[in-house]
Amino acid sequence: MSGRILVVDDIATNRLVLKAKLAASYFEVIEADCGQAAIDIARAEHPDVILLDVMMPDMDGFTVCETLKSCPETSHIPIVMVTATLSSDDRMSGLEVGADDFLIKPIDDLALFARVKNLMRVKMMFDELRLRDATSREMGITDFLDSMTREDDNKSSVILAPPDAKTGQEWCKAIDPNLNVDILTTDSEHEVLNLAALEHPDAYIVHQNLIGGGEGLRLVSTLRARLDTRQSAIVFVVADGTMETAARALDLGASDYIVEPFDPNELVVRLRSQLRRKLFSDQLRSNMRDGLRMAVIDPLTGLYNRRYAAQHMNKIVDRAKAENGEFSVLMMDLDKFKTINDKHGHDAGDYVLKEFARRLQENIRGVDLVARIGGEEFLIVMPDAGRMVATHVSERLRRAVESKPFVIDNGDKLDITVSIGVALGAADDCDIDDLMKRADEALYKAKSNGRNLVSFYASAA
Ligand code: GH3
Ligand code: MG
Ligand code: MG
Repeated sequence: MSGRILVVDDIATNRLVLKAKLAASYFEVIEADCGQAAIDIARAEHPDVILLDVMMPDMDGFTVCETLKSCPETSHIPIVMVTATLSSDDRMSGLEVGADDFLIKPIDDLALFARVKNLMRVKMMFDELRLRDATSREMGITDFLDSMTREDDNKSSVILAPPDAKTGQEWCKAIDPNLNVDILTTDSEHEVLNLAALEHPDAYIVHQNLIGGGEGLRLVSTLRARLDTRQSAIVFVVADGTMETAARALDLGASDYIVEPFDPNELVVRLRSQLRRKLFSDQLRSNMRDGLRMAVIDPLTGLYNRRYAAQHMNKIVDRAKAENGEFSVLMMDLDKFKTINDKHGHDAGDYVLKEFARRLQENIRGVDLVARIGGEEFLIVMPDAGRMVATHVSERLRRAVESKPFVIDNGDKLDITVSIGVALGAADDCDIDDLMKRADEALYKAKSNGRNLVSFYASAA
């Protein structure tokens, strides 16, 4: 994996050392020699990771970090603070301004690469999500920023997998008063997996040594591999104090790690930043799903739109060809619908369309395609349905509309009817455009014969 790393340090030798190590692993390195330059370059170049010196003459690393993390344009870029000494207070203030991790000089190579690679992975996932989100927004499908849930309004859930009950209680005591989360403490690896499937938690805190001799690393790997837990954040607690274990955990898919003994506040801050990230990516994801949904669904009736119908008809035709089967195309148009709008208003008209859509869905099979293809024009395509089935179903649909009045908001009962044109498709006669035209022709005949009728296309032959 290669990527671009911004190295920020006021001392040229320090930059050089880091640059040499990173370049040897095929990372592209850009440099900044002071705080202001770091901010400018980050904004202009969008690096994948920033390695940020804490002590600099013009502006300290905390201020740079805070500035970048509070600007939407750069807030997603992971930042690792690099420093000669790091008191636990420094660590806390770094985490508070949004730093993703720390490296102590002289820099341990294993720590450097484990961290950089992990953050790079996260960054790439976000870039991809942001890109897709931007595309759907450009298509006018969704307005992401408006729909963002505020972090404070969101209650997350966390599963704790501690080494023993007492430690579990201590973690709980640290987290509970500080974060808006439901906490579930588990007492076996088995229980973690059971709860995971039931609760879909946003995050896990997994200790290296689980109760009953379970292995934390194995649990991390299992959680990452399973579909229902793949998207959750995992904070791994390193018990043996080695960077090897931490690197292993990150490699297996932990989102972050913390080394024992730690300040409970650090656990809180790390968990908070993981939950924030999780919330953000969940929203990007669901936003994208909505976007995709809205590209194929008619918002008024919830039926498929014309675009989807055209696509899906190809599939039905392909199947009919492959299986030498038949299918029916029903074109429907509400009768004298304009007068509903004129007499009762547009909202009443909308209600009738929705209720009509509902009655259609109630009267067809799951495999049938129903779509709204125009204002008050609807299409149904039924695979494996020949003349008999088509006659039966279209009559049933016609009656489902005629037989029960549509009751609008003010209590008025409207008598609505529909006209239906049917064309039959077969393996050797399945041109979609032709069939649509024939169904349309049949529909026209139903209209001219007095409406509230089903009419079949009759070939000239
Ligand atoms: P016919 O029996 O010949 O089909 O007569 P009609 O009045 O139904 O046909 P026409 O095509 O003249 O009118 C269709 C009307 O449907 C016109 C339009 O205002 C209305 N319409 C189309 N889309 C919507 C919609 O989304 N909501 C509402 N309320 N009305 C719609
Ligand atoms: Mg009409
Ligand atoms: Mg019409």
